[in-house]
Amino acid sequence: KVKDSGKNDCLLYSESWDNSSLERLTLQHELKRAIQRDEFVLHYQPQYHLGTGEIVGVEALIRWQHPERGLVPPGLFIPQAEESGIIMQIGDWVLEEACRQNKAWQEAGLRHIPVSVNLSIRQFLQQNLTEKVSDILNRTGLKAEYLDLEITETMTMDVKHASRCLLELTKLGINISIDDFGTGYSSFHYLKTLPIGRLKIDRSFVRDIQQDPGDAAIVAAIIAMAHNLNLQVIAEGVENEVQMQFLQKHLCDEMQGYLWSPPVTGGKISALLQ
Ligand code: C2E
Ligand code: MG
Ligand code: MG
Ligand code: MG
Repeated sequence: KVKDSGKNDCLLYSESWDNSSLERLTLQHELKRAIQRDEFVLHYQPQYHLGTGEIVGVEALIRWQHPERGLVPPGLFIPQAEESGIIMQIGDWVLEEACRQNKAWQEAGLRHIPVSVNLSIRQFLQQNLTEKVSDILNRTGLKAEYLDLEITETMTMDVKHASRCLLELTKLGINISIDDFGTGYSSFHYLKTLPIGRLKIDRSFVRDIQQDPGDAAIVAAIIAMAHNLNLQVIAEGVENEVQMQFLQKHLCDEMQGYLWSPPVTGGKISALLQ
């Protein structure tokens, strides 16, 4: 169990980018510069098996080590990066860095676990995504089975594109997870047709499991449905024992949340795996 010191691993700061066009331009400019200056870092949040308590994976989560503003959380720059297209370069960096780090942990003799990487819609829609991912795996030497890609329900709405793209990626040996599951507007149809390996129950359903019978029912139903479809299921945002016990009772496979660990540095993950 990791102490929750990292809960505020992204420092708060008073000045932030507002939505004026000047601020947006400044942010875009700064994001480009940040790539050149290598100011992005990845933190990793452990994913635990709910039966054994073992770490069975980690999710890579980007932060921006800004020279004046401190550690900036992704919610403050990823939306702008998506809008402007800079996400393509940032996304390439994230993929390569996560694979490099995972390979480094393996070479240090640590237990082999997959790393999950969040894909943005633009990355998912690019023509040569599979080729790019395949190149990165070759360059870093990481086996495809140790990479998991997180997409959202929205990205499955173009079923034709999604099935072609996901089939290519899974043929390489990569696992696909659906992030923030339950918050999108997609149909259930894709769940049985697309090669998906895991559902990640959105933390908005987990949060009020205790007080809200509706949320409890939804979480229990997602777990049951996932298992009937032969999918793995992980709960996001688990913050307390009551939530964890509910998930255990309903045989959820894995959990991720502040209860056991916030996102931490790569060095901390090495220590946890030892
Ligand atoms: P996400 O993929 O759903 O990631 C989970 C978020 O929930 C992370 O926030 C994580 O720190 C937070 N979290 C984990 N456990 C708990 C908990 O117990 N309670 C609460 N309240 N929150 C918890 P973070 O790191 O700020 O990331 C936010 C979002 O930014 C991510 O949501 C993801 O959509 C996006 N993001 C992060 N890294 C990347 C990236 O490399 N590429 C892209 N395209 N998006 C990214
Ligand atoms: Mg995610
Ligand atoms: Mg999520
Ligand atoms: Mg997300």
